[in-house]
Amino acid sequence: MQVFHFDAQPLHLPEGHRFPHHKYRALRERLTGEPELRLQAGPAADWEAVARVHELAYCARVRDGTLSAAEQREIGFPWNPGMPVRALHSVGATLAATEAARREGVALNLGGGTHHAKADAGGGYCVFNDVAVAIRWLQQQGWAQRVLVIDLDVHQGNGTAAIFAGDDAVFTLSLHGEKNFPFRKVASSLDVDLPDDCGDDAYLAALDLALDEVAHRFPAPQFAFYLAGADPHEGDRLGRLRLSTDAMAARDATVFHWLWQRQVPAVVTMAGGYPTDLDAMLDVQVQTVRLAKGHWARWKNAADFAGAP
Ligand SMILES: [Zn+2]
Repeated sequence: MQVFHFDAQPLHLPEGHRFPHHKYRALRERLTGEPELRLQAGPAADWEAVARVHELAYCARVRDGTLSAAEQREIGFPWNPGMPVRALHSVGATLAATEAARREGVALNLGGGTHHAKADAGGGYCVFNDVAVAIRWLQQQGWAQRVLVIDLDVHQGNGTAAIFAGDDAVFTLSLHGEKNFPFRKVASSLDVDLPDDCGDDAYLAALDLALDEVAHRFPAPQFAFYLAGADPHEGDRLGRLRLSTDAMAARDATVFHWLWQRQVPAVVTMAGGYPTDLDAMLDVQVQTVRLAKGHWARWKNAADFAGAP
């Protein structure tokens, strides 16, 4: 399975900043040597691809370092020359995973899922919306028109919802904590607001119900993006939902089963995760990667069977 990363592009945060930027490298290191994974550095996306989603003036402010103080506060990172470089690689890793998933059924970005970024503004540690850029790229290449976003990060996918509002070709599903950031949510095609401490059973029941509704309202998607945030987990300091590690596995397995039943190729992005204990969060993320690998193996076996003499 092809897995893309971009942690060689540093974030350059000031001392004491709360964003856990070291998690990307730590996850890649945990996965190094894992059988059947092809870990690769993601290339930088080109500005033309980014500009299919983001306004040119916003792209120019990110590129040139002319974001206002308020815009930088909203993003949560102060601008430095590394910001545009890293943001383009984050998007590029998702684009590379998209191309791989077309061929192999599933591929991963060890970051990405920057779902708070809107067309003209970043927010919540998101500069560009990698999934939105990849969707426009898929459509522009003629590879897929009807695309589904399954956003199970604990925060609502407000940026993605805003970008695809009124666009019938893209269905956005977001399951999230109702009391969590962003406090002003933007309507997705389907939003499921969950209460604090909602519990494993209620969460998994809500997910089943939501996927049933997606199947009815948006039949035959040609491609999907799964934002597999680790932040609904009980070890997350921002997440509030407090799901067990087993429930996180059941969540991922439910999504992969749903996609497999419908033969929908998908990219998995790791999205959010704000650990109190980094190792515990990495356990959850590695679990997601291994379940994705099982899903990939089913695609591979089916392809080998189809190609057999
Ligand atoms: Zn999140």
